[in-house]
Amino acid sequence: MRVVLRSKVLQSNEQAAVANRELFGKHGLAVINMMSSPGSGKTTILEQTARTLQGEVKIGVIEGDIQSTLDAERIASSGAEAVQINTEGACHLDASMVAAAVQELPMSELDLIVVENVGNLVCPAEFDLGEDARVIVLSVTEGNDKPLKYPVMFRQATAIVVNKVDLIEHTDFDRAALEQDIKDLNPRAQLFWVSARTGEGIGEWCEWLKRRVAIRRGSAAGV
Ligand code: MG
Ligand code: ZN
Repeated sequence: MRVVLRSKVLQSNEQAAVANRELFGKHGLAVINMMSSPGSGKTTILEQTARTLQGEVKIGVIEGDIQSTLDAERIASSGAEAVQINTEGACHLDASMVAAAVQELPMSELDLIVVENVGNLVCPAEFDLGEDARVIVLSVTEGNDKPLKYPVMFRQATAIVVNKVDLIEHTDFDRAALEQDIKDLNPRAQLFWVSARTGEGIGEWCEWLKRRVAIRRGSAAGV
């Protein structure tokens, strides 16, 4: 019984994801599904990103949290459009939650939507939201063994952002080991080393986002 219910749920998620992808394609929107464990700094990275890209890329952020609107308030004050999804206990977002949330965003005015998933490196991997890229944020204070512990998630990543790099000397984080593990698991993933606190590496990350936005705009225009 449980298995049947579960596969049913995933199937309808798939249908909702297809509809989302079609909608995003129609608007020429780049859409990123951002995932991490709690406390890795996704919201701080997004605040920095919104400030850096202000005037160049119009960003909408969908904040997924189990509870509270704290992160959405922070994002809104950095200049991006923000909408909050409270999952009321669920540990991941699904495509229909995202479908409802995007209705609250001015899609035709935006270039990029970032979905900040619930902090969790396990089940969000199973839910396609209709995104065109998956980004994993990992902070150096969590240690460098995350890719080996959560290979499913890391194998699917389009990009991996390692945050809090300003603290690396105070940790046992092994940069070379992480680079090797990523190379073995997912050699095509883009790897960024950033500090959302000091701004280090944020420029490079934002350039990558700008390239994705340009590609999506081009394909929506039929170029
Ligand atoms: Mg957050
Ligand atoms: Zn979950």
